[in-house]
Amino acid sequence: MSAPAAQRRARPARSVTLMPARKARQIFERLRAANPHPRSELQFGSPFQLLIAVMLSAQATDRSVNLATRELFAVAPDPQAMLQLGLTGLKRHIRTIGLYNTKARNILASCRILQERYAGQVPRERAALEELPGVGRKTANIVLNVAFGEPTIGVDTHAFRVANRTGLVRAATPRAVEEGLLRVVPPEFRRDAHHWLVLHGRYVCKARRPECAHCSIARWCEYPDKTAAEGGTARSGGVFRVAD
Ligand code: SF4
Repeated sequence: MSAPAAQRRARPARSVTLMPARKARQIFERLRAANPHPRSELQFGSPFQLLIAVMLSAQATDRSVNLATRELFAVAPDPQAMLQLGLTGLKRHIRTIGLYNTKARNILASCRILQERYAGQVPRERAALEELPGVGRKTANIVLNVAFGEPTIGVDTHAFRVANRTGLVRAATPRAVEEGLLRVVPPEFRRDAHHWLVLHGRYVCKARRPECAHCSIARWCEYPDKTAAEGGTARSGGVFRVAD
């Protein structure tokens, strides 16, 4: 995706504002009450399969990834089998997913590293994860969180939008939002915060048409362009997007 729209909204790169702690707690208490055990919507059976699914999900829907990986993981459940598939074989399985040529090359290069350095296992260290081709900070955060239970917060386009709209964290970059969230989200909510923000952004606080009239956290949300009733549309200036 080109330069994120939110980043073009002239927010100074270093400007970060955080919601008062008490209000942030109320938001997460409400999100937890509605969904006490949030889960990724990606389907996977191991840390390796999670890593591959997250790599494939950049600029693609979880549904499209699940459709492709169902068959892919049946024939290539681990790095060795993925390497045996080869580039042509792997592309055949993921060609319905955007950027599949690049993703296929990155996946195979990552599998080679996993085999050579980590005995086919996914490392639990951020630095090691981010050295894998096609794995950035967001993907590393999600793998650390979902596969290993670390209290990391991956900031994708949904989490970025919800954080900025609600006022939990107002910042211009995913990294700044992540750092802000790590400060403003009370410790007991950090493990699940990524899922709550992503699911809220995907199903309620949608990019072009946030469903403010049905939003469980509207009372604490500071978004100035809240839609008053079902069917309302956020003003164009209120659309937040960020690259995955
Ligand atoms: S009130 Fe509207 S803008 Fe605020 S979090 Fe809910 S859906 Fe999003």
